[in-house]
Amino acid sequence: MRSLLLVLTILLSSVPMGAQESPRAKNVILLIGDGLGAAQTAFGLHYANMVEGRKLHLEALMNDGNTGYSMPTPYLSTVIDSAAAASQLATGRKARNETLSLSSDGYVVETILEAAKRRGLATGLVSNMRLSHATPAAFAAHQISRYNPEPEILDDVLTGYDVDVLLGGGARALVPAGRRVSEFLPGIVDELDGDSNRPDEVNRIAEAKAKGYVVVSDRTGLAEASPKADKLLGLFAASHLPYVVDTRAMGLESVPSLRDMTQAALDVLSRTGNGFFLMVEGGRIDYAGHDNDAGTMLHEILDFDEALGAVLDFQARHPDTLVIVTADHGTGGFSFTYGDFNGRPPGRELPSGLAYAPHHSYPTREQLVALGRQSASYLYMLDEAKGSPERLVEEVRAHTGFEMTIQEAREALVRDADGKAWIEDFSQFYQDQASNPACLLGRRLARHTFVVWATGAHTMEPVLTFGRGPGAEMLRGVYENTHVYDVSMKVLQHYSAGR
Ligand code: MG
Ligand code: ZN
Repeated sequence: MRSLLLVLTILLSSVPMGAQESPRAKNVILLIGDGLGAAQTAFGLHYANMVEGRKLHLEALMNDGNTGYSMPTPYLSTVIDSAAAASQLATGRKARNETLSLSSDGYVVETILEAAKRRGLATGLVSNMRLSHATPAAFAAHQISRYNPEPEILDDVLTGYDVDVLLGGGARALVPAGRRVSEFLPGIVDELDGDSNRPDEVNRIAEAKAKGYVVVSDRTGLAEASPKADKLLGLFAASHLPYVVDTRAMGLESVPSLRDMTQAALDVLSRTGNGFFLMVEGGRIDYAGHDNDAGTMLHEILDFDEALGAVLDFQARHPDTLVIVTADHGTGGFSFTYGDFNGRPPGRELPSGLAYAPHHSYPTREQLVALGRQSASYLYMLDEAKGSPERLVEEVRAHTGFEMTIQEAREALVRDADGKAWIEDFSQFYQDQASNPACLLGRRLARHTFVVWATGAHTMEPVLTFGRGPGAEMLRGVYENTHVYDVSMKVLQHYSAGR
């Protein structure tokens, strides 16, 4: 052992200065849990540990020790939106909120995906959101507003840099005006179909095929294409993909999971042999946070973790791959808390003879079990209830096991003159979510879940960043989220395809 160390020491000391400090990777895979704040991460870990008796892939990655606090701070603000956050991860430059990969002065900044492409590496974007949505778009589009029309943003992604693998939702922006998405993408089921929102007759699906993309629109098509395609465009919904729980509630087995899409992307990208950059987004964690719907969020976190599992398997077989997991921000000010329900909880005598008599009711494994049991989103249940308190009580019982009172159901269904839900307090901070009926339902169920939410928007806490592979130790410490880009570029810059 000692002689082996000696040999290693001699070998290392003969490497030119600097080289050993600059790890290089052939592949970089960046996973972004949208809205995966530190409390959300803990939620997933606790659930897996306490209910399923297992460790998440996230926890395995944490145990490597390459963990950092990322400050998701945009240009001139303290709270970031997903567009600026993804732009900063993609470009290493501070961005204004709601912009996509522009400098604070409004100039185009090259993203890591574009830099990788320029060097001859393969590239991929995978998301369970519309591909025109902030997180995936920031890697290949440059726009002054994330709220620009979807076709404008997606045209940037599709026509700009020839991203080799694009898998996600948002098909309505790619089919000609006045047409249904399913006319061009027959695998898309009725529930996820929709009308084009293009202003013109352009058919980007046909163009993609002409450029050599294999185009798929369901799980089977994806599985068939990924072993042979060189370029892959998979669109599985007119807009976003549904929540995992709703995919199951609606029996939509033809919709691929985030893991399915991630595995397909890895198959195609690794086959080029050129090295690659891949971004995978678990985007629905954030949406469940905006909905203040903890059970739905839990299933999105577990789903994201499954995708990470596929990535870590790949990394084990291809150690020249740097895997980074991070979040763009926390969402909702989510937490569990304790409360006072029906007076003090019953005390009990401990084996020592001391009387243990806590003042408050604390959440236990029971709440985790209940949230894990949730089998549809709050929005789905509200939809099914169709405004009837009696039906809402039934929906909630069927999909969560919680017993709401009819009065609670009525309160959850209070609507204003325009038929809109309204958050009673802090509504100005709920922004787009002030009229989100799911947030109202979340509050009415809080006595069952022990879950509280501060807001329907994003929050400023640091997010956790984890890494495995060459250069991952550079992710330790506290830093601005732009550092994630710096590390990715540092390990890739030594690598140029074909050289
Ligand atoms: Mg996102
Ligand atoms: Zn968000």
